Amino acid sequence: MISLVVPIFNEALVLDTLFERIRSASKEWGMDFEVIMVDDGSRDDSLKIMEELNKKDPRFKGVSLSRNFGHQVAVTAGLKHVNGRVVAIMDADLQDPPEILTKFIAKWREGYDVIYAVRANRKENIFIKAAFWCFYRIMAWLSELQIPLDAGDFCVMDRRVVDVLNDMPERNRYVRGLRAWAGFRQTGLSYDRPSRLAGDVSFSLHHRIKFAFDGIISFSYKPLRFFGLFGLIVAVSGFLGIALFVVSKIFTISITPYTFGQIPGFFPIISAIVFLGGVQLIGLGLFGEYIGRIYDEVKKRPPYIVGKTIGLDQNNEDESRSPTQKIEKFDI
Ligand code: UDP
Ligand code: MG
Repeated sequence: MISLVVPIFNEALVLDTLFERIRSASKEWGMDFEVIMVDDGSRDDSLKIMEELNKKDPRFKGVSLSRNFGHQVAVTAGLKHVNGRVVAIMDADLQDPPEILTKFIAKWREGYDVIYAVRANRKENIFIKAAFWCFYRIMAWLSELQIPLDAGDFCVMDRRVVDVLNDMPERNRYVRGLRAWAGFRQTGLSYDRPSRLAGDVSFSLHHRIKFAFDGIISFSYKPLRFFGLFGLIVAVSGFLGIALFVVSKIFTISITPYTFGQIPGFFPIISAIVFLGGVQLIGLGLFGEYIGRIYDEVKKRPPYIVGKTIGLDQNNEDESRSPTQKIEKFDI
């Protein structure tokens, strides 16, 4: 059986089409399927529609989170409830077309453990495209881990990879990074990403930036090292400046046509101070990003709370209610 994990946030307009498209596409898959729809605190009728879909076809099951936790956490919650040997992650807005899964499943049958979709062509505005292009390249440059370029969360994974992901205790989850980290036999398939079927993109700029930071910070220490290196360069230049000053005092050599007391350097000096102050503050902000994430991990709050399940058995639900217990086991 294949389990499809579908995060849903205010997708009332697309759910019926999604339902039909999955049902008709599944005929090509050559296996049973279940859909784990994760309602990420939707404020529209999504949850009601999910319940109706479950009544029409019990293979469509649901988990409803107690509030909006964000896309990555919704995916994480869905992965905890899957029963299939193979698992797919796809968006609800049909930007990840279910028909393509046929090719993915064929690859899984060939023996691949992770088949991720590579976005060959995004039908989005040029600025978003450019921003994503830059982000993935900066990420590749910064990261110690080889995360495939332009790959999103849309993928098919073998159950053993999902078990590895489910055992990872971290709270700031960058699923595509964790998936790459897990290893096993991975391959990418490219596809043209259509625009969303209906409704608006739910991510604000703020969310996108947080997501980009999660991606970089969870997988790289390089930003911290960069600040160390920059500090070293500045300190060495400062030291040379002092040395030059002392030498010029002792030997009363004039390095410039002025003596030091006369240098008309107010503007460059102030600029240098402001610049260095700025760099230090950026460095502090960056440390803050790391420390904030450490703080999140240390608090050990559950990454999400399940408010309600639809058509799922009790065992799975219990497991998701106490992720902290699972993690304690992990720590020992
Ligand atoms: N989503 C979610 N929680 C959120 C935001 C989005 O579960 O807080 C879901 C949304 O319903 C959709 C998927 O995540 O199925 C991707 O969201 P969206 O289409 O808004 O973003 P994009 O396609 O631009 O990445
Ligand atoms: Mg979308």
